[in-house]
This record gives sequence, structure tokens and C-alpha cells, in this order.
Amino acid sequence: MSSPERVKVVVIGAGQAGLSVAYYLRRFELVADEDFVMLDRAPGPGGAWQHRWSSLRLGTAHRVNDLPGMSDLGLSFDTADRTLPAKEVVADYYGRYEEHFDLRVRRPMNVRSVENDGVDLRVHYEDLTPQPIEEQKARGLFRRRRSFEEPGPPPPPRYEITSQFLVNATGTWGSPFVPYYPGMADFAGRHVHTSDYTSAEDFRDKHVVVVGGGTSAIGFMLELEPVAAGLTWVSRRPIDWLDRQELDLEGASAAVAIQDEAARSGRALPSIVSGTGVPKSRRIAAGIERGLLAARPMFDRIEADRVVWDGPDGGMARADVIIWATGFRPELRHLAPLKLREKAGGVQVGQGAAWNDPRIFLAGYGPQASTIGASRAGRMIARQIMAMI
Ligand code: FAD
Repeated sequence: MSSPERVKVVVIGAGQAGLSVAYYLRRFELVADEDFVMLDRAPGPGGAWQHRWSSLRLGTAHRVNDLPGMSDLGLSFDTADRTLPAKEVVADYYGRYEEHFDLRVRRPMNVRSVENDGVDLRVHYEDLTPQPIEEQKARGLFRRRRSFEEPGPPPPPRYEITSQFLVNATGTWGSPFVPYYPGMADFAGRHVHTSDYTSAEDFRDKHVVVVGGGTSAIGFMLELEPVAAGLTWVSRRPIDWLDRQELDLEGASAAVAIQDEAARSGRALPSIVSGTGVPKSRRIAAGIERGLLAARPMFDRIEADRVVWDGPDGGMARADVIIWATGFRPELRHLAPLKLREKAGGVQVGQGAAWNDPRIFLAGYGPQASTIGASRAGRMIARQIMAMI
């Protein structure tokens, strides 16, 4: 078997964080073309944004910060079209950015695992490109299935690459979090996580319970109000409403400090919104005013067609659908063989570097988990790699 490709730097993930690192490494020629590989599992540019629901616009989330060097292309998210779905605008801008700076992302390439290989790291990945039937036949991938002959899903072609440094920039979208509540499995309706939400129309005439205290939950409540037959909002903690329309830098920096402290001590990362509070845009303030945006405390259990509160006040709410806007966790499964995770539940990371392994960087993790943090991560991580190369 031929030996795997060997490079200096592999970046996993071409979202805001991965592109920002790639920009600094490539634009300033810190690594040569042949020493740099970027892998992303998604079919196209846009990072997690390409998967978000169509009604999400730039500005209805928070603020999407520009990537470094974006002004060279005459692009800025601040002046982007706010009437178009954010998923389209971001995918378009990222695509043009990759092309302009010749970032050569290999996609759709899913990294399955990373392991130690002496002083190097060995990255195992698979090509998720749909295979034409003829090619599957040629590769002997037709299999007998049950009693009739039809092609089974072929295993994707697999590859390996070894690298001196690894920048993991895989975000959180692929790792949705749903907390456990008694009765979940007995629910006869649909459980939907933020990552499955596509359009409010899917919930027309349904009784919907929205769970979560962040911007996504609030956005769903506002969108569902005109279409749902019944709408209940619950949150595990009281909503910390801010008396301003947007997050200010001071508020955000306190939340970033909380994330940084957790990352440095290797603890599981807390929810970002628990540190920032929720700004009251005009649309949200109107929703509060008309009584829509009043969260009930979390229910105690779920039955086939309802959620139930057992406390002294008791009560129930009918439910055909429960939407879990309960967040995400960093997507790090493929790094498991490296045993980076601490007993406290997180990876110890400071300035984007894994403290237990100087070859590994986590871009977009903890304090970098916003588009502004992810953009800053690029320079910070590229500098550290440069110092060691
Ligand atoms: P991502 O954009 O998730 O990119 C990660 C990339 O890694 C993806 O392209 C994925 O395909 C790839 N990948 C993952 N695993 C693998 C693997 N095993 N192999 C290969 N590739 C892999 N932040 C803001 O600053 N402003 C906002 O308005 C805002 N709105 C948000 C709205 C929602 C609903 C959510 C969930 C988050 C929002 N955020 C916002 C946070 C924001 O998404 C992030 O801060 C930032 O965009 C994340 O960039 P990233 O590069 O870290 O991750």
C-alpha cells in the first residue's frame, strides 16, 4: 500500500474559524501549497450557515463578523442583502473568499478520526461525493439486499493523510444537544432539534412546545405564532432580558471571559446565552408586549400528546411537536483517539492551543465560538504554528 500523503498542516472544517486560520497561513505564505490541506464534510461553502433554516436573515441572529481580508473582495456582511436567507449570503461570500485566496478546500470530505502516528498525526477521512452507479459497479460495491437485488449504500472511499499540525475547526452544528426528560420516548409526536428546523410551515395547525432560552427559541416563537394551532414556550432558566436592542461589546466580553475560563480549565463549555443575556430588538419587545414571549419554567415530564408540570401549580400543554432549541456541543468525536478530553468534560484550550498536545489547535472553541472570535482565532493560531514550523 502506498504511504499516505504527508503535509505540515491539516485544517478540519471550512467555516468562519477554519477559513480564518487558512487565510493567515496561506495569504502570508506561512505554508506552501503542498504543505497545507483543508478538509470539510459539507457539500459546499458556508460552514454551518449553509444548513440553517431559510427564514434566518443576517441580523435576526446577532451580527455576523467579516472574515479577515474580506474587504479585498469588496465584501462585508454589514452591507450584505438582509432580505436574502443568511444561508445563501454566507455561502456565497465564503465561496468567493475561498476562490479569491485560493484556499482549495477539499469537500465533501468527512474526517472520521485522528490518531497519533509517531511525531505526526494521522487523519483518516472519507469522500462523501455521491458515487455514480457505474462507478459503484466497477468498484464491486453492488450488494445483495434482502430478497431482491439493488445497490446497497456503498462505503465511501477512504483516505489517510499525515500531518505535523492539526487545526480542528469543526464547530458545533454536527453535535446537537437535547437534554433528557422523563417520558421522551413515549411521546407520540415529533421531536425536532434546531438543526432539523427548516420552515415554520412544517408546523401549520400543530400544537408546538418550544424549549430553550436563546435567540433560536425566540426566533421560532415569533415565526410560529401565525401558523401554529397552539404555542408554548419553556425555558430551563429565567430569560435575562437586556434593555438594549443589540448585544454590546461589554456584555459580550463578559460572556467570552466565562467561556475562556471554562476552556482553560478543561471544563465543559457553558451556554453562551447564559453569559450574554438576550437583547430586546423591536420585534422581540413587541412579542413580549403582546404576551407571546413569556417563558414558562421547564416542564417535568412528557406524555404521548402533552408536556406536564408536576409542581404545586401543575398543569399541562398539548404537544404535537417539541422543538428543542437547546443548543449544541463542540464536535470533537473524531479526536477521541487523542484522548484530549479532561475528566471535567472539556478540552483544556488556551489561545486556541490544546494544552496537552502542542501539535493541536482548536479554532472556534470556547471564547472563539462567535464569528468575531472565530475570525480572531485565525491570526492567533497561525502565529503559534509559524513559531513551531
Ligand atoms: P462552523 O460554521 O460550524 O464550521 C465548521 C465546519 O466544519 C463545517 O463546514 C462542517 O462541515 C465542518 N466539519 C465538522 N465536522 C467535520 C468532520 N468531522 N470532518 C470534516 N469537516 C467537518 N455567531 C455570530 O457571531 N453571529 C450570529 O449571528 C450567529 N448566529 C448563529 C445562529 C445559530 C442558529 C447558531 C447555531 C450559531 C450562531 N452563531 C452566530 C455562532 C456561529 O455559528 C459561530 O460562531 C461561527 O459561525 C462558527 O464558525 P465555525 O467555523 O467555528 O463553525
